[in-house]
Amino acid sequence: EVFKRIDRVEEKVKSFITQTREHAEAAAANTDRKIAAGEKIGPLEGIPVAIKDNMCTEGILTSCASKILNKFVPPYTATAVDKVYAAGMALVGKTNMDEFAMGSSTENSGFFPTHNPWDLERVPGGSSGGSAAAVAAGEAIVALGSDTGGSIRQPASFCGVIGMKPTYGAVSRYGLVAYASSLDQIGPFTKDVTDMALMLNAICGHDPLDSTSANLKQSDYTKALVNDIKGLKIGVPKEYLAEGIDPQVKERILEAINKLTSLGAYVEETSMPHTDYAMPAYYLIATAEASSNLARYDGVGYGLRVEDAEDVIDMYMRSRSLGFGTEVKRRIMLGTYSLSAGYYDAYYLKALKVRTLIKQDFDRAFEKYDLLLSPTSPSTAFKIGEMVNDPVQMYLQDVCTIPVNLAGIPALSLPCGLVNNLPVGLQLMGKAFDEGTLLRAAYTLE
Ligand code: GLN
Repeated sequence: EVFKRIDRVEEKVKSFITQTREHAEAAAANTDRKIAAGEKIGPLEGIPVAIKDNMCTEGILTSCASKILNKFVPPYTATAVDKVYAAGMALVGKTNMDEFAMGSSTENSGFFPTHNPWDLERVPGGSSGGSAAAVAAGEAIVALGSDTGGSIRQPASFCGVIGMKPTYGAVSRYGLVAYASSLDQIGPFTKDVTDMALMLNAICGHDPLDSTSANLKQSDYTKALVNDIKGLKIGVPKEYLAEGIDPQVKERILEAINKLTSLGAYVEETSMPHTDYAMPAYYLIATAEASSNLARYDGVGYGLRVEDAEDVIDMYMRSRSLGFGTEVKRRIMLGTYSLSAGYYDAYYLKALKVRTLIKQDFDRAFEKYDLLLSPTSPSTAFKIGEMVNDPVQMYLQDVCTIPVNLAGIPALSLPCGLVNNLPVGLQLMGKAFDEGTLLRAAYTLE
């Protein structure tokens, strides 16, 4: 059924860089065999899944939507993907994204843009736009994306699906191509909260191959699927509903707050005074880490290498000039600058201090509240081409999602009504490793 759907809509939506039909059919046949043999099967057995193209899949192209990796076939599989396979899921394809996960619209893909299934003239959000669009269009039942500053939640919001960034360390990053390692986290896209809990059960857990992976007891997230939020305390930071938020988006968020109150939650306004500094701190930290992480693409170990170089330096320079797109180059330059001698203290180190202040804002808020609430994105999906030449405007897409990554906490985006026939996303933010409370509130609201 999913491939029938792909045949019908993929030409217009363009969610996938690579389709893996044979892989999916082999997994489906294996499921059929298990059922025929009367074996006990798990809840995700045979379910079609799409994976963002920055997670390594042995034997299958993993391009990060970059020309520099356009022939990279990894010799190993990311832990999160291995876990998805172990749950018996069928991989339908690798999804389009902003190159190296840098962007908010999937227009920075080195290959082609993805279109929003709700309105094909609009972006699906990004950087995990292909994964969000695939689930929204019925080309996959669930998907995995990665979120460094909002790249799961913002596209989930634009495409009317649920997207979750788990706590930093909850899902192994082994085999996820690094963008900004202290912020990157893998998470699921689903159509309902039950599927979200099942996906978390499948992908969370300690991994000795990732030194930042948390060593916690495996939890059963389906236990959080309780239809009751009476007495739950929810804070609404006023900085997240300030100017810049579309008034109609704000209306939908206020309606959700009313609904939460009527269901017995206690909701009140609060303040997170350092919110305004999150964006500049993020763009210093993320680009600094990216400039270091992307140094490995030198034409030697991976991907593209120009043929006719005069010497090794010429080979590095021209391979990188040809292989990387504009946004990636912009970020490598920004990051290299802020890490350079003389600027390190003024920019990078300062940004790290601001990150601590933001984390402390959350710590203080969570002394009082179980959850925090905001819009996921200031607006609904914008038109393709509208922002692509205005990087700062594009960066502002993530004002509400970025602080969560700086603090390392979990957050999800839940569909919350429509504005002019386009989906709005509600963001719920929780305490570190308290994904359960996020799921409970989302389950009660959906
Ligand atoms: N849009 C943000 C950026 O471009 C976030 C990207 C992400 O989460 N991968 O950096």
